[in-house]
Amino acid sequence: MDHFQYREGAYYAEDVPLSTIAKDVGTPCYVYSRATLERHWKAFDQAFGDWPHTIYYAVKSNSNLGVLGLFAHLDSGFDIVSSGELKRVIQAGGRPDKVVFSGVGKTVAEIRYAIEQEIRCFNVESLQELDRINSVASETDAIVSIAIRVNPDVDAQTHPYISTGLKENKFGIPIADAVQAYRHAENLPHLHVSGVTCHIGSQLTSLEPFEDCFYRVLSFIDELKTEGIELDHLDVGGGLGVTYKDESPPHPTEYTTKLIECLKSHGCELPVMIEPGRVITANAGVFLTEVQYIKDGDERNFAVVDGAMNDLLRPALYQAWQEILPVNLLSASAERVYDIVGPVCESADFLGKQRTLKVEAGDVLAVRSAGAYGHVMSSNYNSRPRPPEVLVDGDRYYIVRERESFEQMIRGEFIPDFS
Ligand SMILES: *Cc1c(COP(=O)(O)O)cnc(C)c1O
Repeated sequence: MDHFQYREGAYYAEDVPLSTIAKDVGTPCYVYSRATLERHWKAFDQAFGDWPHTIYYAVKSNSNLGVLGLFAHLDSGFDIVSSGELKRVIQAGGRPDKVVFSGVGKTVAEIRYAIEQEIRCFNVESLQELDRINSVASETDAIVSIAIRVNPDVDAQTHPYISTGLKENKFGIPIADAVQAYRHAENLPHLHVSGVTCHIGSQLTSLEPFEDCFYRVLSFIDELKTEGIELDHLDVGGGLGVTYKDESPPHPTEYTTKLIECLKSHGCELPVMIEPGRVITANAGVFLTEVQYIKDGDERNFAVVDGAMNDLLRPALYQAWQEILPVNLLSASAERVYDIVGPVCESADFLGKQRTLKVEAGDVLAVRSAGAYGHVMSSNYNSRPRPPEVLVDGDRYYIVRERESFEQMIRGEFIPDFS
């Protein structure tokens, strides 16, 4: 459920017509709905009932300071994958002691900064990283909490680029080798072995791979117990999918019901950490773009828009399908089938293919489900400034990121003296 809907032919975000935002802020731009973000976050939080849990919102899905500020206001935790994301969380008023740090490539500088900020836990992906964290912690005689990311070797049945829980993926330590890794961690004096973590992929639309993963990880926790290694939390990662087109992913309540059932059947009472990203932000955002030209080809008709793959990469990168709707339904133009393409010099530069629409030059289109992995993946390719971001709250809206200026785009570049 989201708060984008038509009222008398005009597409709204909460109580603000999107055409108003397109006019005032310009296109292309991203628009998020506070009510939707909050609703999705709370749906997850409430789905756990009395089971002790903390939501660690996956910052990488949407790291705008306004969005992070909203989650900080809800007293959310945060799952980060770089020191830049940690800085954003702190800047937005989030608590470092509610941060977990994931990722395969943490540098010494990133680890040092996160230790200084006293984050809740490092989610560790290799033996080498355990050693590195221990060594950095020893500089200040700190004791640092860690969880090891185990790779349970389950097929998430999602796009290969966002599948992370198979043996062939770079993520985590194979579950068969993980006891050894825990013994190693227990022997490192600056580490406190706190939990176990897993994350098998993104945009999962059925419960089965999750259930497989839970059982494997819970059996693993039992195995650790027989080794005398007791944990204080279980982190189940993120990955719950959303509806882009006709997927029907489980509701957060179905997910948590299954999880709690698995926990109970294993007699496991550990507090749960969860790292949802997409399921909270994807359908809380749209991308607005204006049609520049209608171009009729021999085989296809094109609607050339002012938004492109540099602004919204998912269609080009994952062949992702996102719904495209006119902001004004009452266009007099004829219904036709279009490829919605951007101005970038790549054939991969499309937002949607073979879409039936009534559009003409000057109309504004809304690409739905653009709140996750949208602006965060944008670039300056073709020297296009990155688009602004707007947060709607009831009948008001805030510009939470301005459109990038040319000066901002070239800041930090220099021309050598060629004489
Ligand atoms: C990307 C990621 C998440 C969030 O994934 P979603 O599919 O957006 O929920 C959570 N945890 C880790 C470790 C990740 O890499």
